[in-house]
Amino acid sequence: MSERPSRFHLWPWLNQPLQEALVQLHSHAVLLHGPEGVGQFDFAMGLARAWLCEQPRDSAAPAGAFRPACGQCVSCRLLESGSHPDLMLVLPEALQASLGWAGADGESEAEEKGGKARKPSQEIKVDAIRAVVQFAQHTASRGRAKVVVIHPVERMNLIAANTLLKTLEEPPGQVRFVLSGAALDQLLPTVRSRCQAWHLNLPAAEVAASWLAQQTGGLDAEAARVLLDAAGGQPLTARDRQAMGLDARAWPQIPQGVAQGLAGPMAQWPLPLVVETLQKLCHDLARVAVGASPRYFPAASLPPPPELSRLNQWGQELNKVSRHADHPWNLPLKLETLLLQARAILRVRPPRGNPKG
Ligand SMILES: [Zn+2]
Repeated sequence: MSERPSRFHLWPWLNQPLQEALVQLHSHAVLLHGPEGVGQFDFAMGLARAWLCEQPRDSAAPAGAFRPACGQCVSCRLLESGSHPDLMLVLPEALQASLGWAGADGESEAEEKGGKARKPSQEIKVDAIRAVVQFAQHTASRGRAKVVVIHPVERMNLIAANTLLKTLEEPPGQVRFVLSGAALDQLLPTVRSRCQAWHLNLPAAEVAASWLAQQTGGLDAEAARVLLDAAGGQPLTARDRQAMGLDARAWPQIPQGVAQGLAGPMAQWPLPLVVETLQKLCHDLARVAVGASPRYFPAASLPPPPELSRLNQWGQELNKVSRHADHPWNLPLKLETLLLQARAILRVRPPRGNPKG
């Protein structure tokens, strides 16, 4: 059991922001927001661990200042085993396994309707929030504090959000909340206004790229940078995309290939990644069309941008596909349709020979 890797990841770019947050966050409710793929959930757990940690206080530290969790005390060990009585973690079922918290508190409905198999929910439902309200009523088992982490908070449905409001406004005792999310525009303004906001930025590119080079087993610095840019500067996204087949050497060849209707390396990718890549290409071409630098692809790799109106139209069509990317498409056919569409928008004549490669 003890050989299992830790559930907690404090990525190198999170250390400094966590220390700052522990000094500056005073509210009982924190709204953590920022881009995906930088470890927002891990940061939220870093706050929760620090607030619950039972290490002796540093006598030199200002009163009330928290330090990052020690990882050794009883509280830290309970957290590691997933059984701390004063932590309540609320995640949509669909995220629990990938975040290493299968069976976390708050899911509660895994075997409904006669144990029939069903898709795990992407939502945070009202039952989970009712459990939070209950949890907040009781005094802390270990006496230090109680912490509720809700992630991603924008996945609360409307009833759930309204159920949380009163507890968030007048928490009954020593309970602290971390609500974390990437799409705060989807969150009720009344929830937002009850929290102290904390923005998590993209990490510095050098820090993220050097971490990525280590993670991906000897990728050179330039390739790591290509991979990082391809993920919009989000290191965890870059790592995941590489695991899905995105290759730093092949990435810069994609735009010219697409302009000719060729799938190239994308032929082996899952559809959501293909659609996301085409969206990035569309986005970059629109940036170049208005004189800005591309964000995802190296500038030299891009074909000349078509008119903005055509890019707009392409972008809208890609958004439509993206909303249904989990649909059981006939993959080769869908890919071909997408490429024909891309080629038509970019209006580059196909090369001689078989356009499908
Ligand atoms: Zn500790």
